[in-house]
Amino acid sequence: MDGTDSWGGLELSKSIVSAIIEMGYKAPSEIQAASIPWMLERRDVVAQAVTGSGKTAAFGIPMCDVVDPNSRDVQGLVLVPTRELAQQVTRELMLIGRNRGVGVIAVYGGEPIARQIKALEKGMSIVVGTPGRVKDHMNRRTLDLSYVRMAVLDEADEMLDIGFADDMEYILKRTPGTRQTALFSATIPGFIRGLIRKHLNDPRWIQLVSDAKGIETVDEVDQIFYDVAGQDKPDGIMEILDEIDSDSQVLIFRKMQVGVDRLAKGLASEGFPAQGIHGGMSQTERNRVMNSFRDGSLRMLVATNLAARGLDIPTISHVINYDMPENIEEYVHRIGRTARMGKRGTAISFIGEWDFELHETIVAKIGAEKMIKRQFSFY
Ligand code: AMP
Repeated sequence: MDGTDSWGGLELSKSIVSAIIEMGYKAPSEIQAASIPWMLERRDVVAQAVTGSGKTAAFGIPMCDVVDPNSRDVQGLVLVPTRELAQQVTRELMLIGRNRGVGVIAVYGGEPIARQIKALEKGMSIVVGTPGRVKDHMNRRTLDLSYVRMAVLDEADEMLDIGFADDMEYILKRTPGTRQTALFSATIPGFIRGLIRKHLNDPRWIQLVSDAKGIETVDEVDQIFYDVAGQDKPDGIMEILDEIDSDSQVLIFRKMQVGVDRLAKGLASEGFPAQGIHGGMSQTERNRVMNSFRDGSLRMLVATNLAARGLDIPTISHVINYDMPENIEEYVHRIGRTARMGKRGTAISFIGEWDFELHETIVAKIGAEKMIKRQFSFY
């Protein structure tokens, strides 16, 4: 044991405090201050927080603190909806647990399973994975979850949306009933409440977003809207990208994979440093593109909804909805990719022929005072 130290009033292992200070985390963020004390008391927690609030560390710090790094058993389990999120959460947990010697591994589909099996054999304290691949490992008996002490469901609403409900159920049933469980979700619709009733034990509810309007957006995001006909969107995006500072980082959303390919190619042929990412690409290719966007060598990323959730790339200055999302929740997630941790950001949305209804909902729920309406020069 390495003794304890205080971090913003929280008693944590010295090695954890030194690691998070090295990461530049001087004090707990709001969600961390609200949830970490309960997690350290081994209580179940349901936390609803806006994206970019520091929620990974909100569960990552207590998890790295609770596990015994000298044991070969998996004691911490984090389930996430996408591969990219699995990688990102793993990276953060590795940093938090690094001075304590906590082993963390990501398991997700699309990557050779043999490599993950080899890493699991070494004995990892924490497994972060997508439900499908975690279940796969359990069936192969390459992952034993019978010693899990803390389970986290991250972006629980998205996991249910994607269709991971049965896998989550399967996995949770095979972890000890005595485990501690924390559920993080941007929204808590009815079916999440069912999941909570079934799998959490008298949880503490932590809610940092006001539920008055049902939904809150990050105040630091300027939300700009353009009315534009479908065939004029290519001209519109050129006009916008021409005006944006050349050192800004831009995430552009499209609905379909073919649309992503087409737009990325079109922008590249006009001299914009753009590449695409979607679920139809190989994992190697997805990793390559995501890594270059993350390290800043790629400035413009065109993506399907795949990139809407949880991705934390603090340098993203603009999010552009070239195609609008399906609903307001998705809209909030997308624009939450910018203005991370108090920085300012800009969200630009193209309101096409079919998006008027959604636009009205956004205005009604988020408030007209937060919207900026602009017009393209060609209209
Ligand atoms: P998340 O909501 O987990 O995606 O975190 C958003 C960003 O906040 C990430 O870049 C974290 O590295 C950063 N972060 C998390 N906690 C803190 C903290 N206590 N102080 C400063 N930055 C933080």
